[in-house]
Amino acid sequence: GRLLDLVVHSLYSEREIFLRELVANAADATDRRRFEALTDGALALPEDAKIRINPDKEARLLTITDDGTGMSREELVSNLGTIARSGTRAFGEQLENAKPEDKPSLIGQFGVGFYAAFMVADKVEVTSRRAGSDEAWCWTSDGKGAYTLAPATREKAGTDIVLHIKEDADEFLDVWRLESIINKWADHISWPVTILKEDGETTANKGKAIWRRPKNEITEDELNDFYRHVSHNFDTPWSTLHWRAEGTIEFSSMLFIPGSRPFDFGQEQSRDSKVRLHVRRMFITDDATLLPSWLRFVVGVVDTEDLPLNVSREMLQATPVLARIRKAVTSKVMGELKSRAKNDAEGFEKFWENFGSVIKEGIWDDAEHRTELAGLARFRSSAVDGWTTLSDYVARMKPEQEAIYYLTGDNADIMAKSAQLEGFRARGLEVLLLSEPVDSFWPDRLSSFEGKTLRSITQGLEDLEKFALSNADALGEAADLEKLLPALKDALGEDVSEVRGTDRLVGSPVVLAASASGPDLQIQKLMRRSGQAMPETPPVLELNPRHPLVRDLAARAEAGQSVEILGRVLLDLARIRNHPARDAGVFRRRWYC
Ligand code: ADP
Ligand code: MG
Repeated sequence: GRLLDLVVHSLYSEREIFLRELVANAADATDRRRFEALTDGALALPEDAKIRINPDKEARLLTITDDGTGMSREELVSNLGTIARSGTRAFGEQLENAKPEDKPSLIGQFGVGFYAAFMVADKVEVTSRRAGSDEAWCWTSDGKGAYTLAPATREKAGTDIVLHIKEDADEFLDVWRLESIINKWADHISWPVTILKEDGETTANKGKAIWRRPKNEITEDELNDFYRHVSHNFDTPWSTLHWRAEGTIEFSSMLFIPGSRPFDFGQEQSRDSKVRLHVRRMFITDDATLLPSWLRFVVGVVDTEDLPLNVSREMLQATPVLARIRKAVTSKVMGELKSRAKNDAEGFEKFWENFGSVIKEGIWDDAEHRTELAGLARFRSSAVDGWTTLSDYVARMKPEQEAIYYLTGDNADIMAKSAQLEGFRARGLEVLLLSEPVDSFWPDRLSSFEGKTLRSITQGLEDLEKFALSNADALGEAADLEKLLPALKDALGEDVSEVRGTDRLVGSPVVLAASASGPDLQIQKLMRRSGQAMPETPPVLELNPRHPLVRDLAARAEAGQSVEILGRVLLDLARIRNHPARDAGVFRRRWYC
C-alpha cells in the first residue's frame, strides 16, 4: 500500500501521463505479439490491430483495449499483482532514499508505469486473454495494496483495462481532452490509437514513428511532412540526418537542419535545443537539451530504448544516458556540417547565412568545440569578395605577419570603406570584417587559430611599421608630433584617454581607437544600444602624421599656438567616422559654434 502510494503520488508531475503509460503498454504488447507471431503463425495479429480508447461518461469508465499478447493468470499475478516484481519491498525504501540521479535506473529496473492508472482511478479492472490460450482472467484492484483474480470471458486475445474514474478526474472522460493527450504524448505510436465517440471512432495519433522505418521506405513527401511537423517551417530541410546508433548506447534519430531561418529565430525565450526525446516511440519531453545551444536551430527526434518510459523530468537531468546521447548526436551534426563545408561550399554558405551567427556562439562558449567551429566559420574580408575562412586567410598572410586582423562593426559593406582599414590596405594586409553582434565576443575566447593570434584593429597596433607601404612616396613626409600630442591631450581633456600617432591611416587625418584598458569600441556601442550600463571609457584619438591637416597642426604646436579649435574638429570628424548616424548632429552643432 505504501509503495503504491509513493508511486501514485511522487513519480509523476502530471496526471495525464497515466494514459501515455497505458497506451505504451498496449503498444508494447502489440509489438510483442507481432514478434511472437514471426515464429508461431497461430498468434498472428488481427488485420486491424489497434489500441482503442473508450470513454463512458455515464458509467464513469475509461477503457483501453489492445490486441496484444495479453496476459495469462500467472502473468497477471507477476506483472500487475506484484509491484516492483523483479525486486522486493526494498524498492520502496530505495526509491524513497535514492538520490535523484539514481531514480531513473531504479524505476527502469522495477517497471511501475501501470500503477499510474491509480492517479485517476479508484478501481482498475484488467481483463486479459493470452494469445494462444482460450482462457481469460480478470485482475481487479483499488490500488490500496490488494487485488483479486477471477475467471472471465474475452472473445479474442488481448487486454481491456477498465478505469473507474475518480470524482476529481472527470476531464479524462472527455473525448476532446483524451485526443489532445494522445496527440501530445503518443502521436508517433506505430499502431493506430482510436477514441470511441458517439458518432463512431476517430484515430487520435497522426504520425507513424517515421524515424524508426528503414530509409529506403520513406518517401520525400513523408520526410518533408515530418520536418514541417517538428519545425513549424514550410520550407524543405537543408539537411536530413536519419540514423540508428548501436553499441554502448542505442537510439534512432531523425534530425533536420532547416533550409531557412525561421522568421522569429533569435527572439525565443530560451537558447536551449528543442529536439524531442522519445522513449520507445513515446514522446517524453522537448526540453532534455539534446544538443548544445549553438545547435539550437536543429529540429527533430531522438528515440531511445535505454531509458525507462516513466522517467521524470527531474531524473532526466541526472541520467548519464542523456549525456552519452548528447555527445553522439552533437558529433553526428558536426560531422555533417564539416562534410558539407568541405564538399559543398556553396550549399554551406547558404547554411552559414541562416545560422552562422548561432554557430559563432559556440566559439564563445564551448571550449571543446571552439577550434572546430572556428574552422567552419565564414567571414567577409577586406581582400576578397564573398565568404572566406580563417584557414584561407592564414594561407594569404604575409610571411612576417603574426596576427589575424579583424574589424568589428554593424555592416560589412560600410566597414569595407572605413578609415580604420586604410593603413592595412596600403600595406597589403587583409582584415576580416565582422558585422554581427556576437562577433564582438568570440574573438576574445579564440586565443589563436593555426598558431596565429586574432587582433582587433581598433585596439592600438604597434607593429604596422614593419610592413612596407606600397606607395610610400606619394604619402609625403611624416610630421614630428612631439609637441602636438601633449598639447592636443591638454586641449581635449577627458574626451579622449590618449592622443597618439598611427601608421594605419593613409588618406584620413584621424581615427578613434579603443583604449587598451577598456573594452573594444564595438562592444561599448552594443552594450549601450541594449540599454546596459557601460562605463564611459574615452577613446584614443590617433593622428596620421602624413596628413596635411595634422602636419599643419603640428606646426602650430611647434610655434606655441593653440590647437584647441582645430583639434576639436578633428575629434568630431573621427567620431563621425565611428558612429556615422548617431553623432552627425553633435558634429553639426559643434561645427556651427
Ligand atoms: P513496464 O512497462 O515498464 O514493464 P508497467 O508497470 O507499465 O512496467 O507494466 C508492467 C508489465 O505488465 C509489463 O511489463 C507487461 O508485461 C505487463 N502489461 C502491462 N500492460 C499490458 C498489456 N496491455 N498487455 C500485456 N501486458 C501488459
Ligand atoms: Mg509500461
